Amino acid sequence: MTTYFVDVILPLHIHGTYTYRVPQEYNDAVKVGQRVVVQFGPKRLYSALVRRVHEEVPHYRVKYILSILDAEPLVGERQFRFWEWLASYYMCYVGDVMAIALPSAFRLASESSVSIHPEFTGELSDLTDNELRIVQLLTEHPVMTVEDISRAIGVQKMMPVLNSMIERNIIVMDEDLRQRFVPRTSAYLLLGEDYREEGRLRELFDTLEKKKSTQKQVDVLLKYMQLSQMGTQPVARRTLLDTTDGHPVSESALRTLVRNGVLTIEERVESRLDHGQSTTNADSIELNEEQQAAYDYLRGCKQAVALLHGVTSSGKTEVYTKLINEVVKEGRQVLFLLPEIALTAQIINRLRKYFGDLVGVYHSRFSVSQRAEVWSRTQSADPNQRYQVLLGARSALFLPFQDLGLVIVDEEHDNSYKQYDPAPRYNGRDAAIYLAHLWGARTVLGSATPSLESYYNAQQGKYGFCEMKRRYGGLKMPEVLCADMKEEAKRLRRERGDRAASGGTHISQFLLEQIDLALKNHEQVILFQNRRGFSLRIECDDCHWTPRCQHCDVSLVYHKATGTLRCHYCGYSIPVPTECPACGSTHLRMTGVGTERVEEDLQILFPEARVARMDLDSTMGKYKYEELLNDFSEGRIDILVGTQMVTKGLDFERVSVVGVVNADNLINYPNFRSYERAYQQLTQVSGRAGRHGGGAKVFLQSYNPQHEVIERVMKGDYRGMYLTQNEERRVFRYPPYYRLVEVTLKHSDEAVLNAAADWYATQLRSAFGNRVMGPEYPLVSRVRGLYLKRITLRFGKGEPVGEAKSLMMRMADDMVKLEGWSRVTTVFDVDPM
Ligand code: ADP
Ligand code: ZN
Ligand code: ZN
Repeated sequence: MTTYFVDVILPLHIHGTYTYRVPQEYNDAVKVGQRVVVQFGPKRLYSALVRRVHEEVPHYRVKYILSILDAEPLVGERQFRFWEWLASYYMCYVGDVMAIALPSAFRLASESSVSIHPEFTGELSDLTDNELRIVQLLTEHPVMTVEDISRAIGVQKMMPVLNSMIERNIIVMDEDLRQRFVPRTSAYLLLGEDYREEGRLRELFDTLEKKKSTQKQVDVLLKYMQLSQMGTQPVARRTLLDTTDGHPVSESALRTLVRNGVLTIEERVESRLDHGQSTTNADSIELNEEQQAAYDYLRGCKQAVALLHGVTSSGKTEVYTKLINEVVKEGRQVLFLLPEIALTAQIINRLRKYFGDLVGVYHSRFSVSQRAEVWSRTQSADPNQRYQVLLGARSALFLPFQDLGLVIVDEEHDNSYKQYDPAPRYNGRDAAIYLAHLWGARTVLGSATPSLESYYNAQQGKYGFCEMKRRYGGLKMPEVLCADMKEEAKRLRRERGDRAASGGTHISQFLLEQIDLALKNHEQVILFQNRRGFSLRIECDDCHWTPRCQHCDVSLVYHKATGTLRCHYCGYSIPVPTECPACGSTHLRMTGVGTERVEEDLQILFPEARVARMDLDSTMGKYKYEELLNDFSEGRIDILVGTQMVTKGLDFERVSVVGVVNADNLINYPNFRSYERAYQQLTQVSGRAGRHGGGAKVFLQSYNPQHEVIERVMKGDYRGMYLTQNEERRVFRYPPYYRLVEVTLKHSDEAVLNAAADWYATQLRSAFGNRVMGPEYPLVSRVRGLYLKRITLRFGKGEPVGEAKSLMMRMADDMVKLEGWSRVTTVFDVDPM
């Protein structure tokens, strides 16, 4: 009999693959892409993925695989190739990619902990003896690790048993417990028992139609019958009362019908995977002339990648929908990427309207089992089960597509596409292009403010390119104005004297008047301030002492809501001091304004208005973000103050004023992308205004209103911004002309770090000469107790970067082998943002 070996990928930060021997009983079963259980290290068990099956006998002793978890491959060849590309391009290990690509439900390991599934029926008769014992154990000890269970039961092949119990919803993995089961219910309407028979219903209609006073009830019932497919399906109360479909019905008439027992209400738990049927055929979407031209162009585009540059609210989504429709009709799959999951809510509804339950959403905030379910439905061979349109943030790239035909990357410029930690530090947009290439699929990048790289590629003819310059439905772009804060300060000083001016408001008179007007007209306001907290720094007036973080090289930010000073890098926090610990003075001064402060100021200035704040602190709870967005879009908030979260592609109806509290902050950020990014953020936040009505205004507050970026934003001059920035990038040797690789070295001892960084830089210089810059301290030179040093490499376009990257990684491996340097960590960031 043949002896097989498998090379497996482990979900760990380790080099390459590991070889195991296949017990002969598994000879027929073992396949590439399956999960197998292996022992790694002295006693840990892991689910590993088979990358290769072969007969090459290794010249060292290898362990046997312990069991096979899947009958069919879980990961396909193209996925593997995608992972391998990510690992080599972004300078990490395939195991790192596996660890983020595979939903954790598929990564059962000795340290995973499990408990009884809250929805387990308790039915024991179907369980095997081992399963029964596991259930009993878990009843006594609600949370146990796989290792504990194996130890207690003493069965080597425990993992397949557990895996099967997970699949059958008898037990769950730990993460689920913390995340899941905050069931969301909504009210559904059913026909009352007495009215389910057609005769009774007709009678009722007859009676109601006779009287004018009950006409509204007839309207409700007619709409209900239509939505419920003639009373056969329950209808969400929300759907029935939805006014955006052009058929508003009366809420009080509905209440009467419920009171009379014609309709009954049932609270149903909503699964977050629940879908509706599609209600409209995408063929029926009528595009305007610009949209049609873009659509025709994108369909026929010769290049594999095309950029759609369409101003905010030009109707890009409708163009995407048409493109999706075509691919879906061919039975192929579409991946729709968004920079942030918070944006999905609005898009899901728009897509489900056309594609119903062909649309699947992949969310990092979904529970482990929900994610596993989306994964299987992407992979499903059954066309009735299989999702064809997959919507999600960058992690959706890892879904097991079967036949990918189109990838859409919306808001392609957004830096949330970049993953910072952990490795792979990839850019979702660029990875999407590669994934599409693997499938021979087309990629459409869309944005109102394209990234310089994408626009450059379009200019070069590498990407296709089309534009939409007008808002849909003849709506005007908002008027963008600038408030000169220097003048404002002078005016305040004139009017109120010096003291008042320095402690004065951070909102100009100009903007205040507009907010006032908007509130009077029952319109909404968005204010953007890119710093959170109340004040950014506290300083002693007498000795200039400033509280700093113990672990990081930054000053602490004052958070009034919690009464603390906090570090935004590591979370360290202390109570606010009442006097200076250095000199005892009580003159502590606050400088710099954060979102909390803006929120408070506005609440004082407009006591009647409902003011809310949207930043990292106010959206910590699981669905807080969604709640805030809902409240705002349903008019329960008048003024929304927030960080860059409010700039993203949200579609609100009643926003007529947008204010940027401190535009200079964005522009002066020390990074080669800061002008580009400031232009994008300012234009994007402006784009939230006036999406459904004219006369909207945007105010940029600045001490430097003549600044090039501000002038270009006011004129909507993307091209001008592009041309000047592009030229600077060329001259100063930045992307898109050069590729950057940033290496950050970390160590707790500054001297060790400096020595290692110098050594590493010397090695790099010997190989890459003047492409190497640094080492230097980054802007924040110590984080969480580790000192940082940074080396940047720049490579010209045609240079063999792939080889350079391998060499850089090998040199880093050599470095940690040297005496005393084993704990120096190296972080590679390719194409840093
Ligand atoms: P963008 O994504 O370009 O900012 P949207 O796709 O959100 O713009 O479109 C803006 C608004 O115009 C949306 O409310 C959308 O429903 C509407 N709209 C755009 N195109 C059409 C169309 N062809 N038919 C009907 N409504 C449209
Ligand atoms: Zn002091
Ligand atoms: Zn800190």
